[in-house]
Amino acid sequence: MEISDKQIIQQEIDQVKEALWELSHKIHKNPELGFQEEQAVKWQTELLKQHGFHIQVPFAGLDTSYKATFAGKGKGPKIAFLAEYDALKGLGHACGHNLIAAMSVGAAIGLSKLIHKLDGEIIVLGCPGEEGGKGKVIMLNNGGFDDIDFAMMIHPATRNLIGRGGLASSVLDVEFFGKAAHSKEPAEGINALTAIINTFTGIDTVRQLWRDDSRINGIIVSGGTAPNIIPEYASARFTVRAKTSKYLLKMIEDIKKVTEAAGLITGARPNVKVGLVSTERYSNSVMGKTIQANMKELGIAMEYPPQGLAVGSSDFGNVSMTVPAIHEYLAIAPLSVKNHTKQMAEAAISKDADEVLIKGAKGLAMTGYDILYNEDLRDQIRFEFQKTITTLSSGQD
Ligand SMILES: [Zn+2]
Ligand SMILES: [Zn+2]
Repeated sequence: MEISDKQIIQQEIDQVKEALWELSHKIHKNPELGFQEEQAVKWQTELLKQHGFHIQVPFAGLDTSYKATFAGKGKGPKIAFLAEYDALKGLGHACGHNLIAAMSVGAAIGLSKLIHKLDGEIIVLGCPGEEGGKGKVIMLNNGGFDDIDFAMMIHPATRNLIGRGGLASSVLDVEFFGKAAHSKEPAEGINALTAIINTFTGIDTVRQLWRDDSRINGIIVSGGTAPNIIPEYASARFTVRAKTSKYLLKMIEDIKKVTEAAGLITGARPNVKVGLVSTERYSNSVMGKTIQANMKELGIAMEYPPQGLAVGSSDFGNVSMTVPAIHEYLAIAPLSVKNHTKQMAEAAISKDADEVLIKGAKGLAMTGYDILYNEDLRDQIRFEFQKTITTLSSGQD
């Protein structure tokens, strides 16, 4: 019986199982924080190089970003598997990014064994600093995604999900400049801490008028040096989330007004720094259904998220607004395990996770194959992408 191309892909990935497990375990045992992932990049690119990929490091202006490419028989669509590999401070790989890296590297290697038959190019994009660093936003700004046609990745989780959205988000730093004075003569000073406190209460006023799913949380970073000195400087940091980046910008404008009001009341001078914005996530449903069908063949049923499931935000949002893309989820732990915990870090190096890693790599590679092979599918993906992005940018939020 003749063996299908997708079966060949699966066999090829089985051939490199051990190497993928070793890669995942090594990254897990040597957690590196965002933008410091030197070893992780070295190990991934070494393996890709062994399998004939052309490697660029550094890439897109980031020392720990990389691009690995493998060209097909002729010109055609460029498919990127996105690898993340940064860890969390104090928690190691509690978000399981070691698995994301190994799945994407494994998918690319598997698909590369058939690329001589296909037009197009297979790419692995090494995306550093996801945890709070917005590495992909920096890569996008530096042209790192300019020639990519389709992008995909799988994140470990406690459910098998397709089509999960994500919120737009940003970080705001608010500071106030006042004037120091001894507390026995407070009238001589300008109290910057009071201005920060007024900012918090002002935000509590405006947030009541915001739409559902709008979130803001903050901490006071600096609130003075001694209780008997009127603080001349105080600062706070907020995270802001919204359904769309358009609405997020409205919220940021509201917060700026609040700081101006706090400045007027107290006499302290405000300064607001807005961090990079992660946009909302748009998951391409044609690509989602394609990977769902492939994972089903591998024995994993993927579903749309249940109603009411909380969504987070990540720098993948910006990718998904630029090229048709998916960021799906495969379960490596029971529902009781929460992300960013010690339990999740343990799950990310478990036997179960190792099995999911191989299946995820196969599912990604098979989906890449479908996209490279099937022009009609590419048209459907692009059609949906264009339609959605036009709707989003025409002002609907
Ligand atoms: Zn995380
Ligand atoms: Zn993560």
